[in-house]
Amino acid sequence: MTAKKWGSDDFWGLGYEFDPQWLLTPQQQELQAKLIELSRTTLRENAVESDRKLIFPRKNFEALAKLGLLGLLVPKELGGLGENHTCAAMVVETIARYGCASTAMCYTMHTGAVAAAMLRAHGSPVLQDLMKRLDKEVLIGTLSYSDPETGSHFWYPVSSGAEKVENGWKVRKKASWTTSGGFADWYIIQTTSPDFGGNYSDLTCWLIMGDEAKAEPSKWDGMGLRGNQSGTLEVNATIPADRMVGPKGDGANSNDEAVDPFFLLCSSACWNGIALGMIDIAKNHTTRKTHVDVGMRVADYPTIQDYVGEAIIDTNASRALAFQMAKAMDAVTNGCDWSIHKDVNTLPRATLLHWMWQVKFTAAKNVAHVSDKMLHACGGTGYKPALGIERYLRDGKAGWVMGPTNEVLRQFVGKMALLGIGSLDYWNQSLNERVLNNELKKMDKSAKLALAKKLMAEAETKAAE
Ligand SMILES: Cc1cc2nc3c(=O)[nH]c(=O)nc-3n(C[C@H](O)[C@H](O)[C@H](O)COP(=O)(O)OP(=O)(O)OC[C@H]3O[C@@H](n4cnc5c(N)ncnc54)[C@H](O)[C@@H]3O)c2cc1C
Repeated sequence: MTAKKWGSDDFWGLGYEFDPQWLLTPQQQELQAKLIELSRTTLRENAVESDRKLIFPRKNFEALAKLGLLGLLVPKELGGLGENHTCAAMVVETIARYGCASTAMCYTMHTGAVAAAMLRAHGSPVLQDLMKRLDKEVLIGTLSYSDPETGSHFWYPVSSGAEKVENGWKVRKKASWTTSGGFADWYIIQTTSPDFGGNYSDLTCWLIMGDEAKAEPSKWDGMGLRGNQSGTLEVNATIPADRMVGPKGDGANSNDEAVDPFFLLCSSACWNGIALGMIDIAKNHTTRKTHVDVGMRVADYPTIQDYVGEAIIDTNASRALAFQMAKAMDAVTNGCDWSIHKDVNTLPRATLLHWMWQVKFTAAKNVAHVSDKMLHACGGTGYKPALGIERYLRDGKAGWVMGPTNEVLRQFVGKMALLGIGSLDYWNQSLNERVLNNELKKMDKSAKLALAKKLMAEAETKAAE
């Protein structure tokens, strides 16, 4: 195995002996080496500026576009690199680890938006044209889903809607968070469908261009990922008819087949990259810092060796799960061949979604633990910004709270295992009779009578409508 390089020197963190290089093709390994070099010359330095001054990492995207990375998942016929899920995970992890975590998160959202567009690009000249121009024109995409009224339940866009108008659609949306908000060139957004009749699983996706969305980047301020500019966004625009992404009502399928699988995979790769980035820094620092009184380096203390050993083992377990699921998605899609979706009902990634929840939970939980331990290993020096641990620690904290949050994910998995997938009830539609009957038991006769009268009146009004 060749040594990992940092310019002309050997890399100062963990070498390739702790990376699962056998999962990557020779071309993917070559791309990874180029990305490490780009991180050294460009991305890493810009990360400091983005964090200090809340600067959106456009410069880093311009550099990534030169490697063709905005079109990583776009088929070669449309001018992209035609790469797969494994490569996407590697790219995000590499950017986060050696370069800039904010850029890795913006790139994650770009990748999710490209996936949503590619899923429905067949027969859509507008989407195909956009995909062809991603790198040439540095066209950054993102996903705007979270609604101010429903918090991290981003699949429930109550403050949204769409209506047919002459020559197109009138689309409205309020989003509480949008990575790259106000800086992206295009957005994939989700609203309730045109002719919405109150069923929140009836969702439709749209392509919105940068000048059709209103953001207030000056209001963005976050603990970490400060360059990702995840502020509020408002859309109130009339758009051409061909900007509907996929068929009307395709929102849930688009979520399960494109947006969620890619967001969960790539954001997990981002958290794993941050964890590795901190282990790299801790190795570099603890092998150099010496305590003159005892003649030992910090790395010579068994406590520090235990911290680093456990951090590597846990992080590689998380990476192993992420890459295993990337490979599983490669397997069910012929290596991310988008042509399988000419039949809109072909949704193989969706069958793996409950595995992707586990990937994100594991990576977000791990990064929080590793960041604490690597801070401890570096002592007070790690507490100061210069070492870089402190920034990574703040960046990594976003993992747990980003929707689907880790609280929600562990409940999804446990509930699905115990009570079946129907019990998840994303759109608040199925009645829990056990809870209802139990609450009714607590009512006395007159309370029951009053409730019955109220329900009868409501039912009669509804019937008369
Ligand atoms: C850095 C960053 C970037 C982001 N980028 C984007 C983006 O590009 N696009 C986008 O659409 N969104 C984005 N988001 C939004 C994100 O996905 C969530 O919607 C957001 O973090 C939710 O915040 P909230 O305060 O509304 O949380 P809440 O939903 O109010 O959560 C508060 C607490 O309640 C818990 N909780 C919520 N529901 C349940 C439940 N059913 N059971 C148990 N506990 C529950 C949560 O886990 C959490 O502990 C981003 C967020 C961050 C932090």
